[in-house]
Amino acid sequence: QRQSERLLRVDAEREQLLTRLRRQTEDFERLAHEDPLTGLPNRRRFDEALAHEFARSRRSGEPWSLAMIDIDHFKQVNDRYSHAVGDEALRAVADVLRTHDRGMDTVARLGGEEFALLMPHTTAEQAVGVCERLREAMRSHDCGGIAPGLAVTISIGVAAWPEHADAAAVMEAADAALYRAKARGRDRVMAG
Ligand code: GH3
Ligand code: MG
Ligand code: MG
Repeated sequence: QRQSERLLRVDAEREQLLTRLRRQTEDFERLAHEDPLTGLPNRRRFDEALAHEFARSRRSGEPWSLAMIDIDHFKQVNDRYSHAVGDEALRAVADVLRTHDRGMDTVARLGGEEFALLMPHTTAEQAVGVCERLREAMRSHDCGGIAPGLAVTISIGVAAWPEHADAAAVMEAADAALYRAKARGRDRVMAG
């Protein structure tokens, strides 16, 4: 009798331990792929999605697009208000990006005040349309609740496959387009 009670207890303990381990693994998994400030996928997750999309497109021939998104004059937000307000502004941008996610898209925070949007089954021309709406939504988003007078705009660079040969080339072209969007005055979308 005592022997079987002991076995039952050991069994229950092992079960609890396994459940805890499973939860911990899930937590680590999530943390490894999530940006803690915004809850968006992080750079690591984005790189995986990009590699996956490129592999898929090579099989299917389906186009896809990538947008590099950077907040305009973000340093001034930190300087004029505070780092805490800057953090809130980053969350606001993340919310606007999430709201415009069309379901199939992957939106991520790559780091700092830089975000990216991966758009499967989307040509460069369609991607520019998506990004124009995004830019406009950010521009008209009310940030006054974060800090009085605060306004946030974003600049976006777009590039697509197969116009550019692989994932790295698409990323480079989107980055170059973003640079041009900045140089031409910010709060705009450029394609490369
Ligand atoms: P540009 O329009 O050319 O992009 O100018 P910018 O000021 O946005 O760009 P810059 O690269 O000069 O500055 C980016 C700033 O973003 C500097 C850095 O302090 C701030 N930043 C990066 N990560 C965070 C963050 O997690 N929180 C806050 N509050 N600020 C951040
Ligand atoms: Mg910036
Ligand atoms: Mg930047």
